Amino acid sequence: MASGQLHIDLDALATNWRALDQLTGAETGAVVKADGYGLGLEPVARCLARTGARWFFVAVASEGARLRAILGHDIQISVLSGHMAGDTDMIRGAALVPMLNDAAQWNRHRNALPGAPYGVQLDSGMNRLGFEPADWSTCRQELEAGPLRLVMSHLACADVPAHPQNTAQLRAFTAMTRGVRAPRSLSATGGILLGRDYHFDITRPGIGLYGGAPFTAARPVLRLSLPVVQTRNLAPGETVGYGGCFTARGPTRIATVSGGYADGLLRAMGDSGALYAGDARCPLAGRVSMDLMGVDVTHLGTIPDHLDILGAYQGVDALADAAGTISYEILTALGARYQRIYHGAAA
Ligand SMILES: *Cc1c(COP(=O)(O)O)cnc(C)c1O
Repeated sequence: MASGQLHIDLDALATNWRALDQLTGAETGAVVKADGYGLGLEPVARCLARTGARWFFVAVASEGARLRAILGHDIQISVLSGHMAGDTDMIRGAALVPMLNDAAQWNRHRNALPGAPYGVQLDSGMNRLGFEPADWSTCRQELEAGPLRLVMSHLACADVPAHPQNTAQLRAFTAMTRGVRAPRSLSATGGILLGRDYHFDITRPGIGLYGGAPFTAARPVLRLSLPVVQTRNLAPGETVGYGGCFTARGPTRIATVSGGYADGLLRAMGDSGALYAGDARCPLAGRVSMDLMGVDVTHLGTIPDHLDILGAYQGVDALADAAGTISYEILTALGARYQRIYHGAAA
């Protein structure tokens, strides 16, 4: 088979959820938006629910409806974008909890689904989603009359522990939610690592579950293995790939592997990208194409039938660094063409 194999270790996923859970006295939720950060919503959500997660977060209502069909009615599903026009049937049908972001969403929700539960998202300084402090003051009494399931906000700089915006947002959120009886939530993965003041009642880890920074103690969850389609020998002076950007300096062996930017292997990696044969680093040679990449394997004794681009020797953060991006983008770009293979007792 010419498509890459994406191996997903569900035991590592479960271990990472438990490790983040043990860092707080709060209830630990799970963020599974964007198809479980690209790993596959169904196996990821089932594994996390079996491990103990009861509160799931998705970005949009359609993800919530899919998740409800997978996990049944035993869990809470919060929709971070709130109640948008056109969402009402899905919110009712799948018993979703929209995190209302402003007075317009609040009016839409109570008119369309009177008495249906909701949460509230507050803007504590990120200026992305949520009620501004003044709007919250205006609507707070009505919103608190319920059924209000959760009041949350989101930190913009939690991956930089010393960033002054963390304490500023903590102060703002604490002030805005003083006296609120519903459960409160401020922290994603980064906030969990900032310490107890940030934990409140429910946490919302995403990236840390899937093995990415800033949860550097995470167990790696992924191995991505790309089949070698062809190998060839180059004479000095010959070039590889579009634009002829790699030139062989001496006798060179090039492996062409299946996998390219259409599979989420970002073209921006350029020369700093590499694949691995076991622990042997094999640098990219030339530009990443849509479906293929050239890899310099001159130094290998035998050419394996697969080379790993994610695994023990290059994790999601290292690959992200090579492409000048973050692990979140690497994960959510993981292509639909890969064969996803789930491992572990939790599979
Ligand atoms: C994506 C997201 C999370 C999860 O963040 P991680 O950094 O992946 O842990 C939590 N809360 C909100 C509002 C989000 O958008």
